[in-house]
Amino acid sequence: MSATATRVLVLNSGSSSVKYQLLDMGAEPDSGSAAGTRLAVGLVERIGEESSRLVHTPLAAGGEKRETEGAIADHDAALKAVAAELAADGLGLDSPELAAIGHRVVHGGLKFTAPTVIDDAVLAEIERLVPVAPLHNPANITGIRTARALRPDLPQVAVFDTAFHTTMPEHAARYAIDVATADAHRIRRYGFHGTSHAYVSRKTAELLGKDPAEVNVIVLHLGNGASASAVAGGRCVDTSMGLTPLEGLVMGTRSGDIDPAVTFHLKRVAGMSTDEIDALLNKKSGLVGLCGDNDMREIRRRIDEGDERARLAFDIYIHRLKKYIGAYSAVLGKVDAVAFTAGVGENAAPVREAAVAGLEEMGLAVDATLNAVRSGEPRLISPDYARVAVAVVPTDEELEIAQQTYALVNA
Ligand code: AMP
Repeated sequence: MSATATRVLVLNSGSSSVKYQLLDMGAEPDSGSAAGTRLAVGLVERIGEESSRLVHTPLAAGGEKRETEGAIADHDAALKAVAAELAADGLGLDSPELAAIGHRVVHGGLKFTAPTVIDDAVLAEIERLVPVAPLHNPANITGIRTARALRPDLPQVAVFDTAFHTTMPEHAARYAIDVATADAHRIRRYGFHGTSHAYVSRKTAELLGKDPAEVNVIVLHLGNGASASAVAGGRCVDTSMGLTPLEGLVMGTRSGDIDPAVTFHLKRVAGMSTDEIDALLNKKSGLVGLCGDNDMREIRRRIDEGDERARLAFDIYIHRLKKYIGAYSAVLGKVDAVAFTAGVGENAAPVREAAVAGLEEMGLAVDATLNAVRSGEPRLISPDYARVAVAVVPTDEELEIAQQTYALVNA
């Protein structure tokens, strides 16, 4: 790696989309720009369709958002189109300043406990995990292959959504099912959103002015997908998602926790196929299943108009959230902070207020004025007297991926 190489391209490849950010990780005290400065951000969507779209914003150049529509056949064409956009701003992928490409990889199983430089063996292992992450890992693999072909000389790093959760003790990670069956099919709780839980728990400690090793935090990542984690002294000890991202909290379109016998019932009594049940629980459940909307803004608007279905959906969402706060308080024994993050957690003050309401005996409270403040900065929203800090900590998975990637290639 060249001494001047300080840029990291972060790629998040989905089945028909690629999200990307180019960040400069070099601290340049004289320039006034901090390590982690975003140079460009963008998205390619509807890959493989006639109506593909590339939205690119060159932040470094103070540039305007550029949108291009037109067929982009596959991930290879998508990445080449992204490279051309970056090159147009003097940020091309052939630049000697590019230090590495960091890839978000959803499932790293038990083997990948930390960011890993990708070689053929690593790629083969990520492929071996496709049966446990059929919706995500194939797209991540395509992104990796494409980027490697484009810059074979450059370090490519995989940052796994599951890695932060690999510290979970066996008693939290195992399902209470036949051990031989579980082991034969690698059935256990892996957890997801780990990059976000790692980042937010560390930032929460920073906000409290403490070392992460000194604090216990419950992180509530509430986006369209949602998960909670119990983090003791910087290490994850439990998390709400399991073998797949379906378990746990009520989400935008996923049911979260459910009696597994519901699936047998749907098959035997309703005559649904496995794929139909999968689609029902992953895509037509959660908030959208309960009230037809998965956007919390719309749900709040409907509640304000007196809509009963929206009210019930909100109440079910909050009830589940409270159960996890209670459960993870018990798991941790002592809680220093509860941190809200992601689209709902960062923006929906009524969700934060309702999730903590009535938990004063557990040391939890929210100050209405502080909770109403809108800001992109990490902040405390609990009153001074509260025993447990309640925080809003904006997540930044791309920055975390870039930091982990940069640290690894400079190690
Ligand atoms: P994420 O998956 O983290 O991008 O979160 C997306 C979700 O955040 C959306 O589906 C909304 O439910 C929610 N959201 C975004 N902005 C707001 C807002 N201003 N108020 C309430 N909810 C919001």
